[in-house]
Amino acid sequence: MKKIELLSPAGNPEKLEVAFHYGADAVYLGGQIFTMRAMNSNFNHDELKWAVEYSHNLGKKVYVTVNTIPFSNELPALEEYVKFLNTIKVDGVIVSDLGVFQMVRENTNLNISISTQASNTNWKSVKLWHDMGAKRIVLARELSLDDIKIIKDNVPTVEIETFIHGAMCMSISGRCLLSNYLTARDANRGACAHPCRWKYYLMEEKRPGEFFPVFEDDNGAYIFDSKDICTIEVFDELLNAGVDSLKIEGRMKGINYVASVTKAYREALDSFESGNYNYDSKWLDELQTVSHRHYIPGFLKGKPDSQSHNYFDASYKQTHKMVGKVEAIEAGLYKIAVRNQIKVGDEVEAVTPHPGINKFILGKMLDFETKAEISVANPNSTVLIASSIPLQVLDLLRVKSENETRGGER
Ligand code: SF4
Repeated sequence: MKKIELLSPAGNPEKLEVAFHYGADAVYLGGQIFTMRAMNSNFNHDELKWAVEYSHNLGKKVYVTVNTIPFSNELPALEEYVKFLNTIKVDGVIVSDLGVFQMVRENTNLNISISTQASNTNWKSVKLWHDMGAKRIVLARELSLDDIKIIKDNVPTVEIETFIHGAMCMSISGRCLLSNYLTARDANRGACAHPCRWKYYLMEEKRPGEFFPVFEDDNGAYIFDSKDICTIEVFDELLNAGVDSLKIEGRMKGINYVASVTKAYREALDSFESGNYNYDSKWLDELQTVSHRHYIPGFLKGKPDSQSHNYFDASYKQTHKMVGKVEAIEAGLYKIAVRNQIKVGDEVEAVTPHPGINKFILGKMLDFETKAEISVANPNSTVLIASSIPLQVLDLLRVKSENETRGGER
């Protein structure tokens, strides 16, 4: 059986470490040039070098997005950049523009993936890219299982990458400038602020401050308000369609998202590759723990219908809250970087790379600096705790906390 790659987002070095800890085979990430600004969800040159070394030492892969749509005056710097990526031996670059594609071919021997932004929806276009030298195509999200199978059947030597989880667009794979105009964050450079999901009002210019609601029914308007893609319930069907790489969306999401989504799909993929696939509803439970919108299987089961949009609200939901990350193990205690408040007596879930979730009641907690016993730890502090569950560095801890937020966790 061929090995299928689980590909997680890595918005920064910490997310990269977490992705591999929870079972990703590869990560995709962006450098700091060819973005509209140097956002913290990108890697500088030193971090890129580190990322490649760290990943290769683990036997894992790194793909770098260069899916900008450059102007002619950007080409010299782009040429330098792709040469740099070649020098540090990244495992591939993800491009969408023909000029960038040609530049990578002329100046490097890097593997080339064609970005989902190129909107490949049929085997003819996939074959043309492949004939021109593309090793892999990241298919458009707007394809059904049958569409994917037809492409793989007609171009069997191309590697097919598909999105398995994350945000959906109401436009075809990011062909949208809403985020650029409203927030100066470029959807085509991995930085969409998702303004399509915001709530809008109408204001007449002579009546400043008088906001007229825009609605389609009593709940408001939802023409742009798509649900998130989640393929866990059709996972075996997707794998049987012939895909080679499974891409998790969300470079800007938090480490708990990277951890839980990678963990759930890792367990499902391991089950499939064991030859004895057995759907486990715990995988979906795990995916419910992180901030998300209602889930649908994207276009895999057919084109979106009236159930594919959010009708009632624009909020994100999650069942749990991450409270900390294990940073070290010292004298039988675990050093925890605290992310959300945690208290002695809390029922804590240990999210480990092993199947399932173990719980323990937090008993002993010490301030890391003073070593004094404390009962409450606040975000951005460091503590030492005892745990009845064996933990490893990079394991995350969380507590149950039904939560809804507008705009989602970032
Ligand atoms: S604003 Fe919405 S439709 Fe536009 S690129 Fe972002 S997620 Fe997609």
